[in-house]
Amino acid sequence: MAILPVLKYGHPILRQPAQPVQLMDIPPNFIQDMVDTMIERDGAGLAANQVGSLQKILVAVEPNKDKIHVLINPVIAGYSEKMESDTEGCLSLPRLQARVDRHYKIVVQALTPEGEKVEIQARGLFARILQHEMDHLNGVLYIDRADLDTLVWLLDTGDKEVETKPATIAEIQQEYKKRYHHDAPQITFAPAKKA
Ligand code: ZN
Repeated sequence: MAILPVLKYGHPILRQPAQPVQLMDIPPNFIQDMVDTMIERDGAGLAANQVGSLQKILVAVEPNKDKIHVLINPVIAGYSEKMESDTEGCLSLPRLQARVDRHYKIVVQALTPEGEKVEIQARGLFARILQHEMDHLNGVLYIDRADLDTLVWLLDTGDKEVETKPATIAEIQQEYKKRYHHDAPQITFAPAKKA
């Protein structure tokens, strides 16, 4: 059991698509480490890219049920036309949030760690979490889809009330370079090229 470091925006692995994996190729404890890391960091979900792996694995909490789903090789099998806008944040983009339009309902097919096929019908917040994590597995971040007019820094004022300050992508890149990547050999902010 270990808490894994979460890669921050700018790390090239966040912009690379994860690849389907054979169950036997998943390192022992890796899934448990992902779950532990998500819980420790108060995340609602975590994709393998965020902890430096390009295996197609995500973990996510189903809200209200407190159920943790581990999805191997997940694919989106369907979604509603209906969209919904809500606020999102990301463990790979600390201190930020923005509003993102997501499909209200989605259907995801995947394997469980035991190798069983599952189909999940999710709606609302859970559908949002799954779409956010599926995006990670494709090298996509929520800021690629967000309404950038709503992008804000969350300021730590020490009070319970969270204060916000408008943010721009250029500002974030500059700040993150300084904060997380000052000695990194390679930084990739741009979205992955479309195939
Ligand atoms: Zn995220």
